[in-house]
Order: sequence, then structure tokens, then C-alpha cells
Amino acid sequence: MVELRRDPVVERWITIPRERAASIEGLFPGKQEVSRGACPFCPTAMHEREIYSIKDDQGRWSVLVVPDLRPILEMEGTLERRAKGIYDGMSGVGAHEIVIETREHNQSWATMAADQLGLVLRAYRDRSSQLRGDKRFRAIFMAKNYGGMASRFSHPHSHVLALPIVPRTLVEEVQGSEDYFQYKERCVWCDVKEQELAKSERTVALTDRFLVHTPYASRYPFELNVMPFRHVADFASSTDEEIADLGGCLRTTFEIVKNRLHDPSYSMIIHSVPLRNASEHSYHWHIEIRPQLTSLAGFEWGTGFFTNPIPPEVAAQHLRG
Ligand SMILES: [Zn+2]
Ligand SMILES: [Zn+2]
Ligand SMILES: [Zn+2]
Repeated sequence: MVELRRDPVVERWITIPRERAASIEGLFPGKQEVSRGACPFCPTAMHEREIYSIKDDQGRWSVLVVPDLRPILEMEGTLERRAKGIYDGMSGVGAHEIVIETREHNQSWATMAADQLGLVLRAYRDRSSQLRGDKRFRAIFMAKNYGGMASRFSHPHSHVLALPIVPRTLVEEVQGSEDYFQYKERCVWCDVKEQELAKSERTVALTDRFLVHTPYASRYPFELNVMPFRHVADFASSTDEEIADLGGCLRTTFEIVKNRLHDPSYSMIIHSVPLRNASEHSYHWHIEIRPQLTSLAGFEWGTGFFTNPIPPEVAAQHLRG
């Protein structure tokens, strides 16, 4: 069982296991668990509980979604709030699914065919549409960790997470977008897009429907933001045309990242408006990408105040080559 706990001072939720803790020895440097033996995501592996798949002409899966074997939240159970004195907690109910992105072990988003990447995005859209119907959930994320610094497994895979709470980062984005809208009666993300397109000094890639740029106030070197041109709050509302265009857009972007930054480990997350939230007019879904080139220093950890050594304009120029 998993438990959610809320910090009593700031609006920040964390999960902890209630029964089986992780190995303490495994936390020490050099003792991290790396995956050995047969790859659990290759087609030869047992895929016991298929949640969803996209099949090829021969009826074999091209993209397969299965439950995570070590979920950070658990699908079964009811949402129960548990207060202990001043502390707020909740049962760790949520969805944690693994998207196996291709049958081919040695692929990545820098090498995969754009069409295949489009299928992965279609799986994201279909799974998030489905999970939106579950009244227990408040926020849905698609996340990917790539490379030795970020992931235990090298077979291309990503995560779909449905949470019963709205994490602090998303709360801040929704609030900031709404404040801007109240003041200017416009979407801040649409305004950012217009300004970036006008000057393009931070543009890294551009398609008919998406802009990839290094944000003006990037926290990390080579941080990237992918934004749809169309104002839409939830990734699940993407059209087939947008999904296909985004497949090509991400393929180009990750090829650039691989070639220009020496194939770094990275993390990627899709941010969409929280479920049953009245901010559809002011929020704009987007993808955040963070190549892991620096580790988080104590100052940033302690203050939330970031010192980025590479100006985003220089980063964009380097990526454009
Ligand atoms: Zn594999
Ligand atoms: Zn917008
Ligand atoms: Zn975001």
C-alpha cells in the first residue's frame, strides 16, 4: 500500500510506501539498482496484463501499455482522507502505467521513425482520455526518463500517471495563468508563443502546429518547451493532425538534443490542465524537457532559486547549429 502525505506548511504532496520500504543499502552511491538480465519490455518478455495496445498489420503490438510492476500509486481502492492531528494524508490511489513504445530495444526518440513516435503519442492521448473519466483523479501526466542518469531500463518506455491530487508545480502554473488572464484577458502561453515567433532568438524547432523553444527564464541549461499553436488546455484534446505533427516535431527535437549535447540523459513531462478545473480558458498544455547536464545544487534545492550558467538564447543558437 502507498500513502500520500501533505506538507503542513506548503501545498506539497509526497508518496511513501506503507508496508514495504525500499532497501536502505540500495540508496548509497554505487549501489543503485541497475536492470540486469532479460529486458522486461522486449516482445519476448511476459506481458501479463495488457491495458492497451496499438497493433501492426500482423496483429502484433507496436505500442503496448501495461501496469507498472512497482507503481508509485495503486489503481485499486477508494480515495480516503486521513488526518492525524495537524497532518493531512490520503490513500495512495492513482494509476501508474508503462508505455512500451516500440518492439525494438535499441531505439530512442532521436532515432525512432516519426510515425512510431506518433503512435506513442496516440497511446498517451487514448490513455489520458480514458483515465479522465475516473472521478478519483485530479491530474494526469505523461513522463519519460531517458539515459543512464534517469532510467533503470534502456528499452524505450514512458509512464502515464493519474494522481488524486494536483502537484504544486501544476498548481503554480494554473494560478499564474489565471492571474495573467484576469489582468489581460488573454492566455499567457499564447502571448509567449506570439512573442517567441516574432523574434525567434530562442526558437529551436518549428512545425505547422508546434513551437520548440528555450524558455526566457530557463531554470536549467538547454531546458526546452514544446507548445501547440492552438489554444487547448488538455493534451487529450489534441487532434489526429496535431498528434502526427508532434511526432515529427519531437523526432527532430530529440535528434538535435542527441547530436548537439552528446546524447544526454533527459526527463520529459506533459503538463495539462487539472481535471474538473475551471481554467480551460487560461491554461495551455505543453511539454517540458530537461536534459540532465547539471545536478541540482544545494542552493537551488534550498531556495527554489535557480542559477542557469547558459543563457537560453545561447542554448537555442547552439542547438540550431
Ligand atoms: Zn528490450
Ligand atoms: Zn493559449
Ligand atoms: Zn509546465
